Amino acid sequence: MQDNKLNEEVRAYLQRTQSCYINGAAQRGEGAAFAVVNPANDATLVTLNSASVAQADQAMLTAKNAFNSWQNMPTLQRGALLLKLADKLAEQRETLAQLESVCSGKTIQLARMLEIDQSVAFLRYFAGWAGKINGETLDVSLPSFNGEKYTAFTRRQPLGVVVAIIPWNFSIMIAVWKLAAALVCGCTVVVKPSEYTPLTLLKLAELATECGFPAGVLNVVNGLGAELGPALINHPDCAKVSFTGSVPTGKAVGQAASAQGKRVTLELGGKNAALFLDDLSVDEMVNGIMEAGYLNQGQICAAAECFWLPESKIDAVMSAISQRLEAILPGDPLDDETQFGPLANKAQQEKILRLIDVARSEGDEIVSGGKVFDRIGCYLQPTAIRVASANSTLMKEETFGPVGSFIAYQDAEAALEAINSSPFGLAASVWSHNLSHALRFSERLEAGMVWVNMHTFLDPAVPFGGMKGSGIGREFGSAFIDDYTELKSVMVRY
Ligand code: NDP
Repeated sequence: MQDNKLNEEVRAYLQRTQSCYINGAAQRGEGAAFAVVNPANDATLVTLNSASVAQADQAMLTAKNAFNSWQNMPTLQRGALLLKLADKLAEQRETLAQLESVCSGKTIQLARMLEIDQSVAFLRYFAGWAGKINGETLDVSLPSFNGEKYTAFTRRQPLGVVVAIIPWNFSIMIAVWKLAAALVCGCTVVVKPSEYTPLTLLKLAELATECGFPAGVLNVVNGLGAELGPALINHPDCAKVSFTGSVPTGKAVGQAASAQGKRVTLELGGKNAALFLDDLSVDEMVNGIMEAGYLNQGQICAAAECFWLPESKIDAVMSAISQRLEAILPGDPLDDETQFGPLANKAQQEKILRLIDVARSEGDEIVSGGKVFDRIGCYLQPTAIRVASANSTLMKEETFGPVGSFIAYQDAEAALEAINSSPFGLAASVWSHNLSHALRFSERLEAGMVWVNMHTFLDPAVPFGGMKGSGIGREFGSAFIDDYTELKSVMVRY
C-alpha cells in the first residue's frame, strides 16, 4: 500500500479539511467539494471544499490590510524572513516532497530536487535582493531659469496585492518564483494553486507563519480557477496578476486584467523546439533529446516537444531514441528508484491520447510508445513520433507530456526559419560542438529563453519568460523588479 511509504506528517496532513489559508490561519472552504486524486493510483487523497467568492474577497482584503506594514518593514527584515522560510522548507523537504509527489505524480527524486531544493534556492536568491531594490539619482536635462536648480530621483515602490495563479506541474516552485519576488519587493500575495495540487502551498503558507511572517502577507485560496480567478483578478485591491499556465487561460486572464488597467505577467505554454546541428554524434543527440523532452514526463513548460534533426542522422536517432524510451519502466513515484511516473491527472492523459490519435490520423509515424501503460493510474508511455511534415498538428499543438515530435531537415537555416514561424516563443535550444554556429543560431531563435547544448535549466539569476504568444514579462534576475514595483519619479527645485 502506497500509504505506508508516506511519513506520519504527510498522512496526518491528508486528514485535513481546510483548503484556504487566510490572515495567518487555515480555513475550510465554503464552496463546492472537490477531490484531490493521486494520479499514480486514482485514489482520492482528500476531499476539500473550494474557497467561496466571499473567501477570495476576504483573502484580498486581508492582503490589502497587511500591505502597509509589510511594505514599511525594514527591507533586511523582509529578506531575513524569506531566508527563514527557505531554511524551513529545507527542514521539511521530505514532507513537502511527498505531498507534492502524491498530488502531482512527480517522482519523489524530482519533487525533492526540483520542487523543494530549487524553491529553497529561489527563496534565498530573492532574499538577497532585500535592500538592493532601489531607484537612481538623475540629472535633469532641460536648462534651468533664474538660477534655480533641479534634481530628480526615482523610487521603486511595491505595487500592493499580487494575485499569483499557479499551474499543477510545479506547484511549489512556480509559486515560490512569484511569491518570493513579490514579497521581497514589499507586495503582499494571494496565491491560487491548481485544484489538482492544492496541498503544498497550504503547507508552505503555514510554515511562513511559523517563521514569523505577519498574518495576511501570504494567503492561499484553493478551488476552481474559472470561479476564483475572476473574483481575485476583478477585486479592486488586486494590483497585479502573475499567471503561469496554458495559453487559452492566460489569454483570458490577460484580457481580464488589462481591461481594468491592472498589471499582468503571463508565463504561458508554447511548442518548444530543439535544433541539433549535424556535427553531433547520434549518441549526443539522443542524450540531448532525453534531457530536453522527457523529464517529469514532459510536463515542463520549457521542455522541448519538437526535435529538428539532420536528415543524414534522423533514422539512427529514431532507432536509438526508441530503444531508450522502450527501456523506461514506469513506477510508483514515491519509490526512490522510479524514473518515470504518471501524468499529473486524467484530463492531461486524455488530452495527450487525443493528440496522439490526431497524429495517427494525419499520417505521422508513432515510432515508440503512444499508449497507456497497462497499470492503474494516469500513466502514458514515453512517445516518439516522426511527423509527416512541419504542418502536422503535433508540430504545433502543445501536448505538455512525454511526446516528442521528430522531423528531418536538410538545411539548418530553413529549420531555423520553420521554428521561428511558430506563434509561440517560450524556450528553444541549439546543440552543436561549434560554439560559433550555435551562438549565431541562438541570436536568431525567437524564444525568450535559448539554451546552447543544454535544455530546461532554470537559474534564479537568469531572466525567464516567453516571446510572442508565450507570454508577457520576465521572472528572475533583476527583471522581476519591474513586475512587482512601480517606478516613481520625484523632481525637486532648489
Ligand atoms: P491552466 O491554464 O489550465 O491553469 C493554470 C491555473 O489557472 C490553474 O490554477 C487554474 O485553476 C487557473 N485558472 C483556470 N481558469 C482560470 C480563469 N478563468 N481565471 C483565472 N485562473 C484560471 O494550466 P494547467 O494548470 O493545465 O498547466 C499547464 C499549462 O501551464 C501548460 O500549457 C504549460 O505550458 C503552462 N506552463 C507554463 C509555464 C511557463 O513558465 N511559461 C510553466 C508551467 C506551465 P484550476 O486548474 O484549479 O481550475
